[in-house]
Amino acid sequence: MDSTCCSIKETHDAFLLRACRQLGYDDTTYEILLTASREIRTELLLRKDDNSTVVYNAYRVQHHNARGPYKGGLRYHPQINMEEIRGLACLMTLKTALVDIPLGGAKGGIDCDPSSLSDREIEALTRKFTSKFHLNIGPNIDIPAPDVGTNARIMAWIQDEYSKIYGYSPAVVTGKPIATGGSLGREEATGRGVSIVVKEYARHTGDALEGKTVAIQGFGNVGSNTARILNGMGLHIIALSDVRGGIFNADGLDLESVSAHSRKTGSVVGAPGSEPIDNEELLALQCDYLIPAALGSVINETNAEQISAKVVVEAANSPVTEAADHSLEERGIPVLPDILVNAGGVTVSYFEWVQNLQQFSWSLDTVQERLRRRLETASKDVFELATTDKCSYRDAAYQIATRRLKDAFYLAGF
Ligand code: NAD
Repeated sequence: MDSTCCSIKETHDAFLLRACRQLGYDDTTYEILLTASREIRTELLLRKDDNSTVVYNAYRVQHHNARGPYKGGLRYHPQINMEEIRGLACLMTLKTALVDIPLGGAKGGIDCDPSSLSDREIEALTRKFTSKFHLNIGPNIDIPAPDVGTNARIMAWIQDEYSKIYGYSPAVVTGKPIATGGSLGREEATGRGVSIVVKEYARHTGDALEGKTVAIQGFGNVGSNTARILNGMGLHIIALSDVRGGIFNADGLDLESVSAHSRKTGSVVGAPGSEPIDNEELLALQCDYLIPAALGSVINETNAEQISAKVVVEAANSPVTEAADHSLEERGIPVLPDILVNAGGVTVSYFEWVQNLQQFSWSLDTVQERLRRRLETASKDVFELATTDKCSYRDAAYQIATRRLKDAFYLAGF
């Protein structure tokens, strides 16, 4: 999916170039901001349960640390490659700059299909990854977190393997289980952040949220939490999907029964009170908010014309290619950009890291309140700049983040 029409890296490079031009930065500055500090690829050998051996590629791209240690997710997915990880790492640097937290940007992953591996195999692979990368990660160096195909348990294995070498080190990863030093509110943080940005957007446009319709692609961590929280705010979730297909109900899906069905069967498909639709049909649905919350480049030049939502909310990383972004803009469909919309995850990861370093944990109310304040501020900054400069929300978000990054970079004496 990520390779359709335009890669995440190409999309993101184009957006960054546009921001640099709008800010009047020269080509050297653009190149500096674009180029990663360090890129690592290595092979991981896994002895499978049946005694056969498989070789996987593991990646970590550390994009920039001018504003703080590298920070970004670890993705287990068979189609990842260095180019994609590069684009996602740069996106992380801009995201942490936009929400103004003292962290840089990174991304990594293993090109495995976790659904085809046993728990023991995933644990062994994760421990191998940590033993190969331990010199390159660390609480003040680079702090991984969950992403597509990884979860809190995988973070606990990294923490454990790393702590065997360096002593108890919960701050080496975020998105951990609460029992091993994770933060309250981290699991749902990205979805909660999506809902805060949607609410702030409605406030900015003077629109009511009650009764608005929502279609969400992806029912993993981000999609399911976004659906639950928006539904709790009075919006109707009319369509949901996952890798196996989608479901639709024009009057709104009953999320409790969809979640129960998904837990039982591993998919939303066939949930009670729903009609089947496929992922392409979901993207083309008429609705108020279309929320891609799965993989990148799903809205591209082949389907941009079919998008009928009033607003596209990028909960996934880079779900809209540059060509599609242009097409949506021409048709008057605003796009709320990923570096703002899904920044709730890294924001609460930052809170988790701070709690680990302080060895002091915060209440759920404190986490949620601080998340709300950060994302409301970032949203207001973006909406106000877009209004005064008459530019898109993406251009405004990229300009704010790019300026902060460039200032840190040059002031540090590059
Ligand atoms: P996840 O693995 O928990 O869920 C991914 C979902 O996407 C699953 O429902 C899966 O079935 C679905 N999916 C996978 N391939 C698909 C396909 N081809 N078509 C339709 N659906 C498909 O992942 P997640 O953590 O929810 O992440 C989703 C997106 O949000 C990614 O782009 C990720 O980079 C981004 N993101 C996640 C976080 C976080 O905190 N988890 C933070 C910021 C951004």
